Amino acid sequence: MNKETRKKIATVISIYSILMAFSLLAAAHPTTADPALMRNGRSTVKPIHSVAATVETHPVPNAEDAADDSAIWIDPVDASRSAIIGTDKQGGIAVYDLAGNQIQYLPDGKMNNVDIRTGFLLGGQSVALVAASNRSDDTIALYRVNPSTRMLEDVAARRVKTVMAYGCCMYRSAKTGKFYYFVNDKFGQVEQWQLFDNGKGKVDARRVRRLKLATQVEGCVADDDLGYFYIGEENVGIWKYRAEPSGGRRRTLVDSTGPRGHLAADVEGLTIAYGKNGKGYLIASSQGNNSYVIYRREGRNRYVKTFQIIADNGIDEVGNTDGIDVTTANLGPAFPRGVFIAQDGLNEGANQNFKLVPWHLITGEDQP
Ligand code: CA
Ligand code: CA
Ligand code: CA
Ligand code: CA
Repeated sequence: MNKETRKKIATVISIYSILMAFSLLAAAHPTTADPALMRNGRSTVKPIHSVAATVETHPVPNAEDAADDSAIWIDPVDASRSAIIGTDKQGGIAVYDLAGNQIQYLPDGKMNNVDIRTGFLLGGQSVALVAASNRSDDTIALYRVNPSTRMLEDVAARRVKTVMAYGCCMYRSAKTGKFYYFVNDKFGQVEQWQLFDNGKGKVDARRVRRLKLATQVEGCVADDDLGYFYIGEENVGIWKYRAEPSGGRRRTLVDSTGPRGHLAADVEGLTIAYGKNGKGYLIASSQGNNSYVIYRREGRNRYVKTFQIIADNGIDEVGNTDGIDVTTANLGPAFPRGVFIAQDGLNEGANQNFKLVPWHLITGEDQP
């Protein structure tokens, strides 16, 4: 090969790498120019805001698509000692501290989603109750958080068989004080179970309601104070039902996928940021464009904005997210206005994990 040919080849290679770098950047950072989000040549979404995680958890023990959903336990004595409970849907459930260190891992089954409610009376004691959907045997995994060790302790009275376990979430009725567990399967079937102390300090459940959606569902969340149950129909959008067992089948569509909405299928995790006086936000994982969509919690759940989690602080970007969770409680200097947690579908160089973003970076409020 002569000098001239080598030069030509080198030029072609460098142009090719520049083009590749641009296309990778475009793929990694979806913008409002995405044709799926355009209508009549105009974008239907406001600009996507970018934030970065400040903490990431240890990777889950199992490889491939394993980490899925999280729940936050707030230490009532010292909120900076709060913990994150994360599922590994290939085989267990883990607890992490706010620096991301794993405190506990229980290989109790293929835990898909997880949720938590405090103030559950168990054996005369007020406990933080954790419920997870166990896909190994389609049962409700039930734990209490031991506040001194921050570890999970099994409190299930028995293995309660539900519909084929997939998504799940909890509801504590402000009206009646009763606790509920919602679970769904991949065919759109939803069951609501009441959770109660069996009189021997263990938690049992009875089914109180059934719903049926047309296609695959998973992510769900209940608003305890306003009494609503939200569920994502993955290819369609977010539905809003009454959360009480007597709530019936009446529903409204909060937002949809495709050109009429702000979501890109699959609609995955849902969570609620509780504010004061019934205000706050409903947040959805819009998995198809690696972003998160924020709505008002109150009224008709008006669209607020869309954000993505980019790489920074030595932590890789977050995408292909399944479960999300949020709290607006002050968790100390690292998370003064709370924390948003997202499962990361591709944790560079390791198994999947969870990424933590200070909530005030998402709302744009200043630190207190
Ligand atoms: Ca996934
Ligand atoms: Ca959850
Ligand atoms: Ca899903
Ligand atoms: Ca990542």
